[in-house]
Amino acid sequence: MTAVTPDNTKATASADPTPASGWTVADAAELYRIDRWSDGFFHVNESGHVAVRPFENSDLSIDIMDVVSELRRRGVRFPTLLRFQDVLRARVQRLSRAFAEAIREFGYQSPYRAIYPIKVNQLHEVVEEVLDAGKPFGLGLECGSRAELVATVAHLNSDETPLVCNGVKDRRMLSLVLSMQELGKNVIPVMEKYAEFEELMDIAAERGVATQFGVRVRLRTAGAGKWAESGGYQSKFGISLPELLKVIERLEESAAGHRLVLMHFHLGSQIAQITQLKQAAKELAQTYAELISAGLPIQYIDVGGGLGVNYTGGFEEGQINYGLQEYANSVVSAIKEVCDDRGVPHPILMSESGRAMTAHHSVLVVEALGAFQKDRADPDIALPEGASRTLQRMYELLEWLRTSGDREIRSRELIEAYHDVVEFHEDAHTMFNMGYLSLRQNALIERMYWSSCSAILRRLRLLEPHPMPPEYDQLQELLVDHYLIDFSVFQSVLDHWAIKQPFPIVPLDRLDERPTRRALLVDMTCDSDGKITEYVSSNDDKKFLELHPLEPGEPYCLGIFLVGAYQDIMGDAHNLFGRVTEAHVYGDAEEEKNFWIEKVIPGTKVKEILAQVQYFPNGLQQRMQDLIKAKIDAGTIRPSRGIAILDQYIACFDDETYLENDPKAKGRMT
Ligand SMILES: *Cc1c(COP(=O)(O)O)cnc(C)c1O
Repeated sequence: MTAVTPDNTKATASADPTPASGWTVADAAELYRIDRWSDGFFHVNESGHVAVRPFENSDLSIDIMDVVSELRRRGVRFPTLLRFQDVLRARVQRLSRAFAEAIREFGYQSPYRAIYPIKVNQLHEVVEEVLDAGKPFGLGLECGSRAELVATVAHLNSDETPLVCNGVKDRRMLSLVLSMQELGKNVIPVMEKYAEFEELMDIAAERGVATQFGVRVRLRTAGAGKWAESGGYQSKFGISLPELLKVIERLEESAAGHRLVLMHFHLGSQIAQITQLKQAAKELAQTYAELISAGLPIQYIDVGGGLGVNYTGGFEEGQINYGLQEYANSVVSAIKEVCDDRGVPHPILMSESGRAMTAHHSVLVVEALGAFQKDRADPDIALPEGASRTLQRMYELLEWLRTSGDREIRSRELIEAYHDVVEFHEDAHTMFNMGYLSLRQNALIERMYWSSCSAILRRLRLLEPHPMPPEYDQLQELLVDHYLIDFSVFQSVLDHWAIKQPFPIVPLDRLDERPTRRALLVDMTCDSDGKITEYVSSNDDKKFLELHPLEPGEPYCLGIFLVGAYQDIMGDAHNLFGRVTEAHVYGDAEEEKNFWIEKVIPGTKVKEILAQVQYFPNGLQQRMQDLIKAKIDAGTIRPSRGIAILDQYIACFDDETYLENDPKAKGRMT
């Protein structure tokens, strides 16, 4: 673990590598690829701010900096997660409309019903919003665990709303499912394993009722990509073909009237290749046709989740190679083709497209606490008396770089100089370890090392040799700024840490100004993995993000986009950073700034996160009281001072877990 200490954040300003001229907001949109990942929801406005267009068929635009200002006015601190509930609604509608369009185009004879798998974001308000937006389209829900089952069954106001119950289920869960069916609700438990089916049959027999259910079929077709282990023979779940035949035999034997109504597969999240999905859909449709012909009352084909979101807006390896409409077209056409060939009716289509419904609607707003710049030109380096030979040679090299004109040194010589600098730096390290170099001289070597590297990189940029030597990339990476950001990767963008998923990150302000710094974002955790290493940008090198230099006294806000799916619910409490504050924002043309904030949910307090690990205010207070009392008794401090320290400690229980960012504070450097 390496901590970013406040000391690291002290740096001096340096010359910007590029002039700030000829830059427009369109250049910013291009640099951060906003048009390519935003699906039309985000853009850069005239003021150089990122803005949201939350509605379909309306130009209404909300400046995110206006939302930030309003939240600040209310005393809300950052990081804060903004939920644009209208974007959530729009995504739900787009999905259903894409299928409606495909159904119309291919002449498919049954409807489509989107199913919201709540595991993607179980927040009550999100589930309600999705349900409400999906009502006209007959949207249903999906649950995959006991707690999710308990949450979702309570949402079944309409008897029509389907609830698909995936995941492994025990007797108590299956029994609750049967009770919901008894109430007339359209709950469909999906048999993940053969044994689960036997269990369901037993419980139904005990209660003397007939049940409806679905099966998850284990297909040969497997998904591909970062998430792909849910399909294929190796998948954790699913009923094999021989087992499916056993299910059918059991149903035929029984006179209870149980109904197999749904067939399901799930290839895994973020399906990369659309052909894979088509293949799987055809494979399932063939099985469906067979079972329909055998007289089974199957109504639904559920193609599971996996409808991808293109986070980078690019065509990099592993990125999805299709859009929403192509996905819908593929599912509809593949299933129609098989059904028509086999002369069976078209089933009602379902997809459990969680990520695609929710990813776009939330934006995490974070603030930079400081920037540590390594490419500083250090003007007052002087050679001390009795400098070692390495020190002298390093100094000469630096002087040579300093005194020669920008284009006087050829790029080959620059590279040679870089190799020397690296060697001197190494030598100094060895000498220091062996006790031959003083701390003072070693510190001077450090300063000269960074100064020389900066000078070399700056000139290489000016010369632009073709091809750029590999040393150029090394220098870029070496000299990248570290921007210290008040958030935790593990709490707020867990997939970045777990599977290197890049998320678009854009400054919310100053986009009319050329960003001149190359930055790496590091978080607040004391974990060397607590940083962002993959960025979305038009740069060839995606290991850094271009940002603006911090202005003294001015907060610098960044938006981390497309975090509405999975991130906030999977986030963990590494280093006891808790959930961030949340604000639910709605667009409204009648409002002065085109929005209103419906709700602010405060972030986790120190006392709440501590309770999760069994520390409670009373106990902590008692311990601290005893500690202080001992010092009072020993005469180390006066009683009044002891009580003041105790009060100070107690006040911390109600703080949020993130930092209080004061742009004017001393530790902040630009
Ligand atoms: C996770 C999961 C989903 C949701 O997948 P997305 O990639 O978010 O669309 C759907 N169905 C099942 C069975 C799942 O496990």
